[in-house]
Amino acid sequence: MNPYQDLYHKQKTHFATAVKHATLWERKQKLKALKKWIKEHDEMIISALQKDFKKTREEVMISEIKPVIGEIRDAIHNIRYWARDEYKKTPLALLGTKAKVIKEPKGVALIIAPWNFPFNLAIGPLVSAIAAGCCAVVKPSEHTPHAEKVIQQLINDVFDEKEIACVTGGVPETTNLLELNWDHIFFTGSPMVGSIVMKAASKHLTSVTLELGGLNPVVIDERANLKDAARKLMWGKYLNCGQSCVSINYVLVHQSIKEKFNTELVKAYEKRFGTEASSKNDFARIVNTNHFERVKNLVDSSVEEGAKVIKGGTFDESDNYIAPTIIDGINEDSAIFKEEIFGPILPLMTYNTIDEAIKIINKNEKPLALYVFTRSNKFAKNIINHTSAGTTVINDTTLQFVHPNLPFGGVNHSGIGKAHGEYGYKEFTNERALLKQRRGLTSAMLIYPPFNGFKRFVV
Ligand code: NAD
Repeated sequence: MNPYQDLYHKQKTHFATAVKHATLWERKQKLKALKKWIKEHDEMIISALQKDFKKTREEVMISEIKPVIGEIRDAIHNIRYWARDEYKKTPLALLGTKAKVIKEPKGVALIIAPWNFPFNLAIGPLVSAIAAGCCAVVKPSEHTPHAEKVIQQLINDVFDEKEIACVTGGVPETTNLLELNWDHIFFTGSPMVGSIVMKAASKHLTSVTLELGGLNPVVIDERANLKDAARKLMWGKYLNCGQSCVSINYVLVHQSIKEKFNTELVKAYEKRFGTEASSKNDFARIVNTNHFERVKNLVDSSVEEGAKVIKGGTFDESDNYIAPTIIDGINEDSAIFKEEIFGPILPLMTYNTIDEAIKIINKNEKPLALYVFTRSNKFAKNIINHTSAGTTVINDTTLQFVHPNLPFGGVNHSGIGKAHGEYGYKEFTNERALLKQRRGLTSAMLIYPPFNGFKRFVV
């Protein structure tokens, strides 16, 4: 028997008998309780992430705690608009009927989270599930064990397991969970595991949200403000030690401004990190030895292929530390161009024409994020019109993730479905069509057989 069968049935029963009928006020009380717990335990969350991969206090605040609090506030404030019935116009042929879309919670959901923003990406989707009126089982990542414990404590302290529960563990536990017939699965992680999740969901035809990753490009136009671009890349690339789904995988720099851009990049690097020793105190670590080796191999193979390390490039295995690194001279055949780096490495490539840049971007699967630095709207538009991506930012990076009113997610290989705010709420909601007919004779009867006199009207 599936070890989670009992928990699953408890939630199914509780959903049908209680949660499905909860008022919006009750949903808001749950969100408020969640917010209160997070605010009272922020030091515990910070400490857990510092233990897991030396994530700095400031980064925990801006990328884990604040975005979740923001998501909760947004939901509390807007839930009454999101949950409103939507009345629809009636076409002539259906005269006399009334139509609307009502929002019903999908039911019991499974939320599977990754390790890179372990708190944010477990609790953020939970906020959407609660706002939508669902029950949920949350499965945090096993690779950040301290964050996993905090998430478990939060859920146990605030909720009854018949409504919201936390299951800990790795692949075997997630595999067991995936066997059950969920009403929705919200998965954040790699495209490879995303396809395992989708396959398991297809057995029951369960709807899925897949928040995945990809190879995110940056294009630097020859008209870009190079100093500004360099400074912004220092933040977007190295946040969370480069272990972010919207981080940069490669930078396409126009050949004509290459030297100037490199100079600005080195200046911005030195301003941000100072000496390497000081950067060590203010920089997260790679999450584990496997990923440390994988990222180190990417740098080593790039150097073997002829690329040049122009900043960083040092490693400390005892601590899973990789210095923020810039590598120049990558090309389309480089190993580093073919996989998601998920580490603090910024590879530079050059291009000569916009068509060439577009061709390089379109060589890979559609990315989760695409960034363009330019002063020309026409250039930005051209890139956008000839590529596809889950999200795009002009003249900055990463900020799209924290915008509460934008849908966040990928396209095809980088994701299916959207997160955040109303978009997240909708993933856990069934938009149910409701049509009400008048009693007695109606215009719709014109399409009933036998057609006789109405044949010409119908056909
Ligand atoms: P992952 O896919 O390895 O793991 C994610 C979750 O799936 C974990 O909870 C893990 O226990 C579970 N899992 C792993 N292998 C499994 C298997 N074989 N069967 C069932 N479950 C399994 O991802 P990760 O390494 O934790 O996170 C990094 C990836 O997540 C990157 O690709 C990154 O781009 C992506 N990501 C995407 C977003 C987004 O919002 N789009 C955000 C963060 C991370």
